[in-house]
Amino acid sequence: MATIFNNRDPDFFIQGILNGDIVLLSRAITLVESNNEKHQLVAQKIIEGIAGAPRNSFRLGITGVPGVGKSTFIESFGKEVIGQGHKLAVLAIDPSSAKSKGSILGDKTRMEELSVQKNVFIRPSPSNGTLGGVTKTTYETILLCEAAGFDFIIVETVGVGQSEVAVGKITDFFLLLMLAGAGDELQGIKRGIMEMADALVITKADGENLEKAKVARSEYAHAMHLLQGSESGWTARTTLSSSLNNYGISEVYSMINEYNTLVTANGYFLLKRREQQIDLFLSAVNEQLTNKFYSDKVIKEKIKSIKNLNADQNIQPFLLAKELVNLFFKK
Ligand code: GDP
Repeated sequence: MATIFNNRDPDFFIQGILNGDIVLLSRAITLVESNNEKHQLVAQKIIEGIAGAPRNSFRLGITGVPGVGKSTFIESFGKEVIGQGHKLAVLAIDPSSAKSKGSILGDKTRMEELSVQKNVFIRPSPSNGTLGGVTKTTYETILLCEAAGFDFIIVETVGVGQSEVAVGKITDFFLLLMLAGAGDELQGIKRGIMEMADALVITKADGENLEKAKVARSEYAHAMHLLQGSESGWTARTTLSSSLNNYGISEVYSMINEYNTLVTANGYFLLKRREQQIDLFLSAVNEQLTNKFYSDKVIKEKIKSIKNLNADQNIQPFLLAKELVNLFFKK
């Protein structure tokens, strides 16, 4: 055991992951998430080493406010997915864990039944760091899971911040879970998030809630219709589900299948993935340039002295910015 945990040989990880070794997959994800430079170097080599692995997976983003029923939904939906013969990885991004020590996703035992199933890998990820950092970590985690043979990847995030925007950039289909009768404002769902959604699922459509859910469905269906205009050729859907009654769950799977068939045939599936790669690449260039710039000793000093100027000394923001950037690149 000790050798597994101490081994930092990238080839050891690469071979293990390609053979579907879950322990090594987990360890590699920990390396990807690590801020330690040595770990990052090994992680990078592993990512490079698995780059040639087949990518015939489907990546599903799921978001919704805490309490909407995400983990219960994923528990039921996940069983449907593995029942259809897939190997399923569930990656959960928890934006709360960075700020407070507490965690929305970690404070209760989640997806207990799903987690013990064969062909299921569940991995909560702390989202410490910048949005770009979260995107990179999650993206690389997806690649690692795919290399280990997982062909259906769910990326779950709590709809309280920007992390769902990041998830939209790395998944093929974006599912938004909503409660009936709580209003958009109450649910903290921004219009932009609704625009990103390929489907909206009204959860807890059971018991006394069923009628309310039906009303909500037609309201949201109308709102979604107004937001339409997708180049994928797909029209966003609004459906009902009850994870407790296993109602509307297999329909979500069929819907996603239908989407997959459509966008594979019309070329949008690959086009979207390519656009996402370009987007990630350009964001990474931005982030790396910014980091290099702000960690430069001379630039740091200059910025410090500018900040220390007296309040009555006028500064010209745009001119100064240009001078500083020119200074950086001349070196
Ligand atoms: P999450 O915070 O979005 O992951 O939400 P959970 O899955 O933990 O669910 C929050 C609460 O809603 C729990 O008490 C669940 O038992 C309940 N819940 C989840 N799904 C359903 C459902 O389909 N019907 C009903 N009636 N309650 C549900």
